[in-house]
Amino acid sequence: MVSPLYEREQAVLAATQRLRFFPLTVVAGEGCWLVEEGGRRLLDLSASWAIASLGYGHPAIQAAVARAMSQMAGVGLVSTCNVEAVQLAEALLACTPGTGERRVYLGHSGSDANEAAVRTIRHSTGRSGVIAFHGSYHGGLAGSSQFSGLIVDAGGHPDSDLSLLPYPSGPSAAETARAALDQLDTLLDQQGENIAALICEPLMSDGGVIVPPPGFLADVHKRLSSAGVLLICDEVKVGLGRTGTLHAFEHDGITPDVVTFGKSLGGGLPVSAVVGPAHVFDTAEAFTMLGTAGNPVTAAAAHAVLRTVIDENLPAEAAARGAQLRAGLTQLKSEHPAIEDIRGRGLSLGMQLGTTCDGRNSPSSTAAKVCYRAWELGLVLYPVGPDADILEMTPPLIISPAEVDQALALLAQALTDVEMGAVSDETVSRFQGW
Ligand SMILES: *Cc1c(COP(=O)(O)O)cnc(C)c1O
Repeated sequence: MVSPLYEREQAVLAATQRLRFFPLTVVAGEGCWLVEEGGRRLLDLSASWAIASLGYGHPAIQAAVARAMSQMAGVGLVSTCNVEAVQLAEALLACTPGTGERRVYLGHSGSDANEAAVRTIRHSTGRSGVIAFHGSYHGGLAGSSQFSGLIVDAGGHPDSDLSLLPYPSGPSAAETARAALDQLDTLLDQQGENIAALICEPLMSDGGVIVPPPGFLADVHKRLSSAGVLLICDEVKVGLGRTGTLHAFEHDGITPDVVTFGKSLGGGLPVSAVVGPAHVFDTAEAFTMLGTAGNPVTAAAAHAVLRTVIDENLPAEAAARGAQLRAGLTQLKSEHPAIEDIRGRGLSLGMQLGTTCDGRNSPSSTAAKVCYRAWELGLVLYPVGPDADILEMTPPLIISPAEVDQALALLAQALTDVEMGAVSDETVSRFQGW
């Protein structure tokens, strides 16, 4: 049964900003739980695409927002400076590894952070080439979508100066890594003078929850450094504790030249950031201005998120809860032949699905049905990957051991029900998905 609120939404809000797998209407949230219209509580194993890193309504964010709102130190950074934005920038510099003089750009979304980074590097270096990876996602605006491999691979308009490399994954990861490095060498040899930056996700999320092989990103960075090309690490979805370290790139032993933050940074409020060299980000004034960027209320929220993640050692929590969730998923895999693979890192995990044993469902249909059935049972998670066959799990970092067990029990039930044919093709066909 589709609720009245869902029907009203379809009549007024643009379909271009929807990606739906079931008709969830939310009226409230608390911790790892969303409250649906009508009062049903659902365990959110997605954290709204890894954005609600501290869950919903975290007291530290509430207090910071209330305080900043009551003071209202202006609205942003364009022509005035405010204490909340300065404190956030200082905290970001303090917790992000890097050398030399650095600066912070503040924005509203991962998309604008990535665009600001690329546009500013292009301007300051006078180089226009950008390298990204097939399957990568860096944002949904004009600039960021054009250097997102996932969108370009699917027929989207590419940036006119974009080169895409394969992102090593699966059993042939070592070979793909070699091929990617060879392609990178060729690009740098032939056009190195004109390449501004390479942008990458240190764990590819929407492209299929892929952890690169050890040493790969370090090899990439070494080559870029000798060619004077900057490495941008897009930490928007997997950064700030999720993978078990504060920054996902720490697993690769690299110090990127530029780091972008978003999603989890605001813990649910719109705020993003770029940390990069002063010689790049100080080269032009009035170049990337957004009227309410550096807004004191969203900056205060982000600062509260950063402090909570660090003070409460949430990267270690994510590692521990991630190990628990992964062990449970591995157990499920031994019981459900429809599960092809379990992968990821920390609390950024993926469960790849295959055809059901009766042969009636393709991998993407199995994923869509398990996702739909999970919602019916009270669990929220979504499919990712170019074939939409991977159920992604990125719960709030504050998820408890008991909640992880609850999620696993609901997931087991959803898998069993789908294997028994509980969800029809017609039911899931009402939702467009990817
Ligand atoms: C979601 C995402 C973005 C874009 O962030 P928005 O806040 O949606 O603009 C950029 N990069 C990655 C890796 C993401 O997952």
